[in-house]
Amino acid sequence: MQPLVDKFGRLHDSLRISVTDRCNIRCFYCMPEEGVQFMDRADILNFEEIERFVRAAVPLGISKIRLTGGEPLVRRDLHKLVEKLTAIPGIRDIALTTNAVLLEKHAADLYAAGLRRLNVHLDTLDRARFQHITRRDDLPKVLAGIDEAVRVGFRKIKLNIVAVKNLVEPDIVPMARYCRERGFEPRYIEFMPLDAQSLWDRRKVLTSDEILSMIAAEIGEVVPVPDADPRAPATEYRYADGGGTLGVVASVTRPFCLNCNRLRLTSDGKLRYCLFAIEETDVRDLLRADSTDGQIQDRIRRNISEKWIGHEINSSKFIPPPRPMYSIGG
Ligand code: SAM
Ligand code: SF4
Repeated sequence: MQPLVDKFGRLHDSLRISVTDRCNIRCFYCMPEEGVQFMDRADILNFEEIERFVRAAVPLGISKIRLTGGEPLVRRDLHKLVEKLTAIPGIRDIALTTNAVLLEKHAADLYAAGLRRLNVHLDTLDRARFQHITRRDDLPKVLAGIDEAVRVGFRKIKLNIVAVKNLVEPDIVPMARYCRERGFEPRYIEFMPLDAQSLWDRRKVLTSDEILSMIAAEIGEVVPVPDADPRAPATEYRYADGGGTLGVVASVTRPFCLNCNRLRLTSDGKLRYCLFAIEETDVRDLLRADSTDGQIQDRIRRNISEKWIGHEINSSKFIPPPRPMYSIGG
């Protein structure tokens, strides 16, 4: 079967699946504090529908999956979805992005279901600052969740830190040290215009270069990892003293659209070829009807054939996507 290549020659092998738009915290750069309109539960794909979609996507070359949301762990029995997906021949890699508030309870089941890669979203180790950013006092639960994940066997843990200027500067080095001590990889993600309240402005982006300089000045020299995957969103560095790796996701200052290999499925069954896409392709109707794999594959190809060359964050033409981050799946 023809692989999933778009008109710019980009091969797509990675699928991000959002399992819910709901969340148990309220990071200000993602969700408003009050009055969020969540999707009707009837509109959300069930696990069988997600599995059906993935089985149809694998022959097109999809081999990597990331589960995300909203907060994926608010979806009951998420480990059962992991079990279904790890059993699909052709799926080589499954990862989960989570805020870890519920991880302590679920880490063992997720590990037993075959999950091995975790990205934990944590911007700060300071309880008051955590509360300020997320509008919830849940830092102790997040830290307990991370400890439990390590205890049950997770080794490939990355920490997502959203880099907002005039806010997270005091956290950059402490987060790097925390990760260095534990063998985790911090990933500093430049603040993107995906918040629900249009708070974003380019001057609020703490840039990857600024972050790397702070780390180099306080901890030690970092050098690029030579054989890093060029299609991964993060640029990988390692400490020159051998003390581990770190990544920066320079979505704003060094967009990496030309290497994009990703396709997204929202929790209500829409395909998106980009985080910032305006248009979507529905597949839920097919997943809820007696359709063939070929029909689902045609929709996937159609969405990828419409993929643009890249987002326009840095131009005056930029239009924010109609859905905020929590509803797209980061
Ligand atoms: N709830 C999970 C979490 O927070 O990791 C998964 C969903 S969340 C939308 C996925 C990732 O998006 C988060 O880890 C966070 O790093 C990132 N994120 C959220 N809002 C962002 C923004 N405005 N700019 C850049 N990254 C953002
Ligand atoms: Fe929830 Fe993740 Fe959005 Fe924070 S970034 S509000 S944890 S979905």
